[in-house]
Amino acid sequence: MKIICIGRNYAKHIEELENERPDEPVIFLKPDSAILPKKMPFFIPTFTEDVHYEVEVLVKINKVGKHISTKFAHKYYDEVGLGIDFTARDIQAKCKEKGLPWEKAKSFDGSAVIGNFYPKEKFTSMEDMSFSLRKNGEFVQQGNTNSMLWKIDELVAYVSQYFTLKKGDVIFTGTPAGVGAVKENDVLLGVLENETAFEIKVK
Ligand code: ZN
Repeated sequence: MKIICIGRNYAKHIEELENERPDEPVIFLKPDSAILPKKMPFFIPTFTEDVHYEVEVLVKINKVGKHISTKFAHKYYDEVGLGIDFTARDIQAKCKEKGLPWEKAKSFDGSAVIGNFYPKEKFTSMEDMSFSLRKNGEFVQQGNTNSMLWKIDELVAYVSQYFTLKKGDVIFTGTPAGVGAVKENDVLLGVLENETAFEIKVK
């Protein structure tokens, strides 16, 4: 399986990192080796001094598709979830400065937290789902899919123009404002609507 991530999909997060608002979705990939095994803590890698959490809504692809139209995109996923796109912000800043790819900053081992998935029928609308991340009990990120620049169906259609989607692939749909650093012994709790999708300890 592959993990396809969307960058810069919430206006307020673009502002906080002083990025340009993109004309089309920003895409990058994580390999399956980036997945943090269930129940495992997240170990801060030795090569970074500044790892950030980014809570994101996840979409799990249910069948093969390419060149999917937005209108039919909803047929290509049955489940949505919540996860974290861990980012070595210091490494990413260096990559950006030099115009280099982001993989060292975003695709390292453990950088993809994939929490629980839920059937999409559980939610009233894909375009109005609230989610949050708490760090040590305090809210640090609160978002709603209604603030996405590109909606879930648009993202599925867009990425399928470039990559054939396969059953089991996961799309990370971008993070809202409030990203920040983690340190040893932090506990991160992600909630999608009323469901606790993950709890991660940082080591
Ligand atoms: Zn992200």
